[in-house]
Amino acid sequence: MAEVVHETQQDFWRPPSTLAAEEVVVVRPEIPTMAEACPRCGSEFLLGSRFCHSCGGRRPEALSATARADAAEIATLWENAIARMRSGVMSLPKLWEKVSFPAWLRYLHFHEIKRWVGLPTASLIAFVIGLGCVAGALLVGLLTARNLVDWQAIQFYRAEWLLAATACFVAGILLKKSSSRDSE
Ligand SMILES: [Zn+2]
Repeated sequence: MAEVVHETQQDFWRPPSTLAAEEVVVVRPEIPTMAEACPRCGSEFLLGSRFCHSCGGRRPEALSATARADAAEIATLWENAIARMRSGVMSLPKLWEKVSFPAWLRYLHFHEIKRWVGLPTASLIAFVIGLGCVAGALLVGLLTARNLVDWQAIQFYRAEWLLAATACFVAGILLKKSSSRDSE
């Protein structure tokens, strides 16, 4: 104690003890700049409080100026992106209305084809599948045969496709007969 007092007398600008000097050095930077308003309820914090007096929320550290600027920038970017996306989505139906389909496209509608061919629905479906099988038989011709076994296999594929087509057409005929008998 005597030493402390002695030192104080000698160097009056220094703190009286080394312990006090350390405390000052350590404590000073640990006082953070705290947020001024509660992020949860928005009420202002009392001076020196660590918790919100109205909602009890913990008082967070204040954001530094650069961090706040960054956050604001990100928020505006995000809002712009959302607005752009929303306007794009809103304009999509208008765009869809602007697209005018050619008039001949309505002939591809199923009921138009049905009326045109004059077949009942089941027969028409069987007919379309049969046409697909004929197309398959034709596409088999694209396969190249390197030897006799390949060629034989291709003939078998073609025969199978044609058989399937025949079966579909026969089914279409039978369905047409039964449905026309029903309608009679
Ligand atoms: Zn609060």
